[in-house]
Amino acid sequence: MFSQARYEAIKAQLPPQVTLVAVSKTYPAEVLQQAYDAGVRIFGENRVQELLPKYEALPKDIEWHLIGHLQSNKVKYIVPFVHMIHSVDSLRLFNEIQKQASKAGRIIQVLLQMHIASEETKFGFDEAELLSILESGVMQNAPSVKVRGLMGMASFTEDTEKVKTEFAGLKKTFDAIKAKNYFPEKDFDVLSMGMSGDYLLAVEQGSTMVRIGSALFGARN
Ligand SMILES: *Cc1c(COP(=O)(O)O)cnc(C)c1O
Repeated sequence: MFSQARYEAIKAQLPPQVTLVAVSKTYPAEVLQQAYDAGVRIFGENRVQELLPKYEALPKDIEWHLIGHLQSNKVKYIVPFVHMIHSVDSLRLFNEIQKQASKAGRIIQVLLQMHIASEETKFGFDEAELLSILESGVMQNAPSVKVRGLMGMASFTEDTEKVKTEFAGLKKTFDAIKAKNYFPEKDFDVLSMGMSGDYLLAVEQGSTMVRIGSALFGARN
């Protein structure tokens, strides 16, 4: 169930420069419609199979963000309408987005996902790998993809010092890439970090976009 009160309370905690992505995965379209009616326009989903029917069912002025791991062969299904892809975690995926976006005549905004957690299961580039790709120039020569910034997920732990250190590390990488001017400075301005359990820490560490699900919609099954 979407809670207007929780939504207002979270918004009140966020500085004005921080964008709230309402992570609606697993909730039915009716619940997203309630959130929409309360003013939410930015929704995040992590699976293409779930995003497509929700896109069909819901108002067309929604900004859809794909936040979960994306297989290259599914890119073509979301490119016609997706607003931002947070989970670009390989050059192969990046190249496929460029190809499909060009075909569709669209420019897709993306974030490069960095691996910052200690868990093995989380996707993303490590810093050295990403820096060498950026040095090569391939990502700068993709006219149908606009790289807006970085995304990361901290370790799932109660250890707030650890989470804080991971977010601070991601912010440092973000600043270093920004300073190198690989991308136009005004475009490289999004740092997507922070979820229900750690968004306040993330904001403290310089997040500009938080992805919040259960704190808005209640616990997922
Ligand atoms: C599910 C998910 C979230 C939101 O998680 P909550 O803890 O429910 O806020 C954020 N980011 C990604 C990538 C997710 O898959």
